[in-house]
Amino acid sequence: MSAPTPAPKPIVDEPLPLPRRWGEAELARLTAMVGQSSLFYWKGPQTAALLEEFRRHYPLKHVFPCSSGTASIHIAIAALRLRPGDEVIVPPITDMGSVTGILYQQGVPVFADLEPDTYNLSPAAVRRAITSKTRAILAVHLAGNPCDLTALAAIAREHKISLVEDCAQAWGALWQDRPVGTFGDFGCYSFNDFKHVSCGDGGMVGTNRDDLGEGLARWGDKSYNRVIGGRDPEDLAPNYRMSEPLSAIATAQLTKLPGIVARRRAAGTLLTSLLAGTPGIFTPAVTPGGAHSYWFYMLRLDLARWTVGQAEVAAAFQAEGVACGAGYIPRPVYQYPVFKNHNFFGGAWPARDAGYTTMDYRAVSCPVSEAILRDCVVLRLNEAMTDTYIEKVARALRTVALRLTK
Ligand SMILES: *Cc1c(COP(=O)(O)O)cnc(C)c1O
Repeated sequence: MSAPTPAPKPIVDEPLPLPRRWGEAELARLTAMVGQSSLFYWKGPQTAALLEEFRRHYPLKHVFPCSSGTASIHIAIAALRLRPGDEVIVPPITDMGSVTGILYQQGVPVFADLEPDTYNLSPAAVRRAITSKTRAILAVHLAGNPCDLTALAAIAREHKISLVEDCAQAWGALWQDRPVGTFGDFGCYSFNDFKHVSCGDGGMVGTNRDDLGEGLARWGDKSYNRVIGGRDPEDLAPNYRMSEPLSAIATAQLTKLPGIVARRRAAGTLLTSLLAGTPGIFTPAVTPGGAHSYWFYMLRLDLARWTVGQAEVAAAFQAEGVACGAGYIPRPVYQYPVFKNHNFFGGAWPARDAGYTTMDYRAVSCPVSEAILRDCVVLRLNEAMTDTYIEKVARALRTVALRLTK
């Protein structure tokens, strides 16, 4: 009996480096916090510190810290005072939280297709999706890649509709050297566990518009007016408040944002340059004028050139030690069961049943989005990865591509 041949060493021959995300800075804030007499957000010192730190990065006049990214978008949509059947143009590849608030306000998410190389909303597709009922465009900066905000803002201006920026995946991303979330009528952010910066769960919503921003907090605080006090709600609004412990952690996290983003941007940019010319691989494009902040790294496979399919390619990358997966979300959002069955409120969709919309999500088709999900591979990327590690990842991808393309 011969000894088994040892498995060949993978090209990425070290485990995925993981950053230590919380430490002294968070502890110092929490320690100060436990001496407080209240953990309520209104006039809370941790909340005040969070607003100050957030504004150092995002100069927005009116901001409200809230319980999630989903909540931040719901608050923005509610503050726009959508009426039943009003339409919001959204991308098909995003988190469910991008569209939840629209539906809760009895609005209608209208899916427009994406650019094949940035995976962000195509301005031309957005134009085609506009109707007399369109009230807003929800620009999702996917994976940290900024949308073409100049084009989207021009469309919004032209049609007198709002632009809401979903920056949940795009902490630190820039458009023309300014942070995303400061171009549209609202910027919406998430502190969930998986984003660049996190307090476990949390969010932030902000605007520079006084007409939308005065009383912004009420849309996430039961429509109570904390400024004048008393409870006399004028609108229906949930409780989406963020409490002091989470604000304490989020504040400390934001102090680390520039370092986190600088490292991720360098790593993502290096990976793209090292992959140039690799057969069968399309690297993500950054729209000129944008700076990507790489929450993850998504590339596409030119499947006609590969001898195997998407899942096998991802498995071959993994066998060389690359932390990656085939595909991103399993299907475009409009194909999720909740949309296919129009099952928004106990099996019904009041906005459609009452005639405010004729939308049928079973008839929606966005071919570019569907193609992206069929041939994309998502690579893990984080601030603990060194250039040396990224070089190994690139070498692994290139080696597999040379072996498995024709
Ligand atoms: C994470 C995410 C959200 C929702 O954020 P939560 O804090 O998880 O509610 C919304 N949009 C996008 C694009 C996201 O990635």
